[in-house]
Amino acid sequence: MVTKSTLLYLSRQERLKDFATTFKPFERMTARFVAGEDIAEAVLAIKQLNAIGCTASFDHLNEGVSRMEETKAEVVEYKNILAKIDESGIQSNVSIKLTQFGLDIDPELTYRNARAVVEEAARRGNFVRVDMEGSNVTQVTIDIFKRLRNEFGVDHVGIVLQSYLRRTYDDVKELLKIPARIRICKGAYNEGPDAAFPDKKDVDDNYVRVMKLLLSSGTYHGIATHDPRMIEATIDYAQKESIGKDAFEFQMLYGVRRDLQEQLARDGYKMRVYVPYGKHWYPYFMRRLAERPANIWFIVKNMFKG
Ligand SMILES: Cc1cc2nc3c(=O)[nH]c(=O)nc-3n(C[C@H](O)[C@H](O)[C@H](O)COP(=O)(O)OP(=O)(O)OC[C@H]3O[C@@H](n4cnc5c(N)ncnc54)[C@H](O)[C@@H]3O)c2cc1C
Repeated sequence: MVTKSTLLYLSRQERLKDFATTFKPFERMTARFVAGEDIAEAVLAIKQLNAIGCTASFDHLNEGVSRMEETKAEVVEYKNILAKIDESGIQSNVSIKLTQFGLDIDPELTYRNARAVVEEAARRGNFVRVDMEGSNVTQVTIDIFKRLRNEFGVDHVGIVLQSYLRRTYDDVKELLKIPARIRICKGAYNEGPDAAFPDKKDVDDNYVRVMKLLLSSGTYHGIATHDPRMIEATIDYAQKESIGKDAFEFQMLYGVRRDLQEQLARDGYKMRVYVPYGKHWYPYFMRRLAERPANIWFIVKNMFKG
């Protein structure tokens, strides 16, 4: 039996990450969660999502970048994505990870790189979501986000917070004062009990507490989950408080609970799907397996299918 923590441990192995980018048969395995290797494939996937009433968040996979030139290439890639969104007329914003822009090298370099992308998004009237990574970078991610938010405004940059972290409720309260647009998710990294709640029930309870704060704040936020209980709690709370369907959006990952994505869009809720693409898919893909180890069998079955 493969455990969640083993999969999360494997997700951080650099050698496996490098090997995975060159091993072609893996592409077939990843197709369920990754929209393709290049921008054109992701645009196609987003067009299909738009056709069923979902918007998207474009994500170029490449986290934990350790060479400065590579961080610059990420800026170019994201400017290209923003241009492609406009050219193709798809309904999509973008999501970035700060370790993609140099957080493991230098926070100032990261700020400058992220700033270049947010500036381009603001110029085009688009929006950049700063994903949240491991708890070792939570504070610096919030600090960089705040600088960007103050410069470019609430409509052009937002952040992600994770309900498994003990600090998150206070972070949400602080960030709502600015105000800031927040995506709440449960959290996908391997965290110790000092930083994160070890029990799923506490993670879920915190999720619902934060969701209520967000919905009542008057700012537009993202409720990111595939958990039917979290979704039901959100819908119930919105109805009870007379909060309109346009006041927030649900968010899910590409390839996960497509039935629910379609259903929510059909029911008139705003539904955004996170669409990752690129050859550095390994850590992202392993986190998806860790969330649901049963996915391993699904993937293996697919590999040997016709
Ligand atoms: C749009 C979006 C953006 C995200 N951004 C971040 C981020 O910036 N930082 C971060 O740490 N995490 C991020 N995550 C991941 C998140 O933290 C969780 O790890 C992930 O969403 C699983 O949690 P859950 O809320 O779906 O609930 P869970 O309790 O994990 O799952 C509930 C149910 O959803 C289904 N499900 C969940 N995951 C899968 C899967 N991989 N495959 C198949 N079924 C599944 C299953 O039916 C499961 O029973 C993001 C998630 C989403 C949807």
